[in-house]
Amino acid sequence: THSTDPDLTDRNQQLFERAQALIPGGVNSPVRAFRAVGGTPRFIERARGAHMWDANGQRYIDYIGSWGPMILGHGHPAVVEAVQKAALEGFSFGAPTEREVELAEAIIAQVPSMEMIRLVSSGTEAGMSAIRLARGATGRPKIIKFNGCYHGHADSLLVKAGSGLATFGHATSAGVPPEVVQHTLVLEYNDVAQLEQAFALHGPDVACVIMEPIAGNMNFVRASTAFMQRARELCTAHGALLILDEVMTGFRVALGGAQSLYAQQIPGFRPDLTVLGKVIGGGMPLAAFGGPRAVMEQLAPLGPVYQAGTLSGNPVATACGLATLHEITQPGFYDRLAARTRALMDGLKNAARAAGVPFATDSEGGMFGFFLMDELPQNYPQVLTTDGARFNRLFHGLLERGVYVAPALYEAGFVSSAHTDEDIEQTIEAARSVFESLSK
Ligand code: PMP
Repeated sequence: THSTDPDLTDRNQQLFERAQALIPGGVNSPVRAFRAVGGTPRFIERARGAHMWDANGQRYIDYIGSWGPMILGHGHPAVVEAVQKAALEGFSFGAPTEREVELAEAIIAQVPSMEMIRLVSSGTEAGMSAIRLARGATGRPKIIKFNGCYHGHADSLLVKAGSGLATFGHATSAGVPPEVVQHTLVLEYNDVAQLEQAFALHGPDVACVIMEPIAGNMNFVRASTAFMQRARELCTAHGALLILDEVMTGFRVALGGAQSLYAQQIPGFRPDLTVLGKVIGGGMPLAAFGGPRAVMEQLAPLGPVYQAGTLSGNPVATACGLATLHEITQPGFYDRLAARTRALMDGLKNAARAAGVPFATDSEGGMFGFFLMDELPQNYPQVLTTDGARFNRLFHGLLERGVYVAPALYEAGFVSSAHTDEDIEQTIEAARSVFESLSK
């Protein structure tokens, strides 16, 4: 149980009280409020490498990494230097800069499906703009998304499945009129038959299919190779665009993103549009979308699809992104990151098994997921069968021992290049003691 009485020695608690009076839920993004797990959110004062310190001076090994961007850990010297230099040159000009061109070149060099790219400031903006572009380029209204995938909080994407396959979705947020989501079809992830049926029914009206190739917003669920391949084939056959939302997986699971992994298994595989965010900004507000030249040239000022942003391609953010990309393109970076992530997951699995706690895990590059169940789920309804109360006890047990994982079982976790063997060992040690208490 977590007391809600104010504790005058607890600065996190004090700050949370102040915040709640002024900011809805005390936070500027809902998951930070610890609503799912209960207790007081930690107010972070500073971070360095793989560690963060809260307002009470308590240290945590950080497996959230700002929800994905901090692939080098916090305060990487080369990145800090680049940001400081850029800040001295100017925060924002509202005019083009050389660094935007350099960042476009650096991203496209690693993600060849993107012939052209546009920079924006958040994943939400990038996803929303990619959808508008897909609709504008095809002249079609309907979009297909999958249950449990998150693509930011644009109105047309805040949708859950309707009562049957032939019906369109319901808004998951108040403030989104039914008319706004009437063109959004929500299907089950990894269900080839449903996708085929949806195209059979609506094919000529479908502008795009948007999906997370590895869904990090239902913890960690991979699109099966067969599912990805069929999605590609169906989009091509029906003239719809395949949009891969790699906001989380881009430059995180591999240098070329998850699409580079599917391309190894599906000859000639590439998405039409790619959505990026998180790592490409290195912790600064920066995201992007891109794809074939003919599609991207439909964007204003060349084409009829409008899209814009006062801070898009921000000079400080692009400096941060470029410095981050410079580090992660060094040879062997992802091999080391993946090995460290696997070592963590193996250690956690062994600790859970030793205590008799069910545990299934998967990881790719510096992104991981784990479930307190015997087998990995394939879709969102299966993810929902996890024992939430048990996860909450695990979360708080780890937090008390200085290990900070995502405060919700629907979230993926992240390892950075700043995590040391010692960090991994301390984490496994903490988990061992929590798993023992869980099995009692
Ligand atoms: N797409 C995916 C796959 C995401 O994980 C997120 C955010 N976690 C977004 C889009 C939205 O990005 P942002 O929070 O930067 O708007």
